[in-house]
This record gives sequence, C-alpha cells and structure tokens, in this order.
Amino acid sequence: MHETSLVRTLLARVLREAADGQRVTRVELSLGEMASHTPEALAFHFDQAARGTAAEGASVDAVREEARLRCDACGEPAALGEPACPSCGGPLAARGLRDVRLEGLEVREEASGQVRTVRISGGGGVR
Ligand SMILES: [Zn+2]
Repeated sequence: MHETSLVRTLLARVLREAADGQRVTRVELSLGEMASHTPEALAFHFDQAARGTAAEGASVDAVREEARLRCDACGEPAALGEPACPSCGGPLAARGLRDVRLEGLEVREEASGQVRTVRISGGGGVR
C-alpha cells in the first residue's frame, strides 16, 4: 500500500480516538518486521497529513515489532517455526509481519491542559 493512503487511514483512526476539545500530542505505532515503511517515513508523512487537524504537531513513536507467532486460543507467544501452541496445543497465528498497528496515543485537553494516554486494544491494525 502507498504510504499516503496508509497514513490517511491511520490519521482517521487517531482522530476518532480524540474527543472534541482534545489535541493529539503523541502517537505510538508498531511496525511489523516486514512492513515496507520505515519509522522515519511514517512519521514524516503523518506530520504532513495531520496539518490542520487535532493531531497537528503530534510526535510519532514508531517501533519495529519482531515477527512472532501467538496462540489463537490462549494468547501465548510462540517462536517462529513452532507447529502448535507450546502451552495448549492451539493453532498459532502470525503477528507483526507486515502490519502497522496503532498501539496508543496521548491527548491533551485544550481547556485544562490535562494529558491522558489512550491504549488501543485490539483492532489497531492499519493496512
Ligand atoms: Zn495456546
């Protein structure tokens, strides 16, 4: 996927998390090991796309995530190459290969200046 459309999807996701009267000050991303985007490029494009929105000027923390397997049944991580979950024998699913995930963000209330951290649990994947 082209960087710009990925960043637009990501920005839309970020802006949905911020309520009226809040500014997004920080965005935390994880990048799959095989993701074709570099953290620097993503931060640059995000910065451009966020101009004029509530996320303008937000810093972007993008961290490379090691590719790994995780059990679908119990959530235990497993090494690549394992045929099944080492603790329950359940099916393993690959994670962190190519996806860019929104892990969390930091918002500031414009009125009070109060800063709040928002964790994104599940569904943070942006393709
Ligand atoms: Zn398991």
